[in-house]
Amino acid sequence: MSASAEQYEELAVANRILFDQEIVDGLGHVSFRDPDDASRFYMSRALAPGRVTPDDILAFDASGEPIDARGRSVYQERFIHSEIYRARPDVQAIVHSHSPTVIPFSVTTAPMRPIRAAFFYPEVPNFEIRDVAGWTNLLVKTPELGAALARTLGSNSVALMRGHGNVVVGRDVPTVVSRAIKMEADARLILQATMLGGPITYLAPEEAALIEEMAAAVTRGSEQAHDRTWNMWKEQALARNPM
Ligand code: MN
Repeated sequence: MSASAEQYEELAVANRILFDQEIVDGLGHVSFRDPDDASRFYMSRALAPGRVTPDDILAFDASGEPIDARGRSVYQERFIHSEIYRARPDVQAIVHSHSPTVIPFSVTTAPMRPIRAAFFYPEVPNFEIRDVAGWTNLLVKTPELGAALARTLGSNSVALMRGHGNVVVGRDVPTVVSRAIKMEADARLILQATMLGGPITYLAPEEAALIEEMAAAVTRGSEQAHDRTWNMWKEQALARNPM
């Protein structure tokens, strides 16, 4: 068994949305775990996300290697995905991006806490690659570095990667795309609230739990908020940049 044509299509659309929403530029990637074989995941070949089509999607094994690359090159940072899937059986989809407003929080002591992004609880850890590998080019390009990032992520939904970007995990592709977009939005809100001065009133853990409970109750395929937003993002991304 393998992923369906609909899932390939959804992953290609996810790439297009992340590009259209300026979460990824020429770099960054999104993947999902095989629903029938938990040791496999799917991701585009090495390609700018704004160019990905269903035909570019490859299957990868648990060690992050393509099962049949068909002569195509693959992302160096695929071990972000393989090692998080290995460490987190609950995770079904992952986004890695360099979304710009989030990066300053990875290089300062400014706290990345939720104004609207309820999934920031329990916390937003920061992966310091120097702690595990000394001087590097910051790329998570080995299984060992991927495993170290997965340890930093722990049971959280997001992790910062110092001076580089972030990783977002969740239960399905629309959820991680939405979280990646909301994380960038929250970074902007924190900056704006900071400019106004004074202490910021962040979401309480109790409020965040209620918001997440509401998000988890939304069923895919229903025309509820989650789907409405996805369909709007999709329509806009494909109108501007036809697949
Ligand atoms: Mn990267």
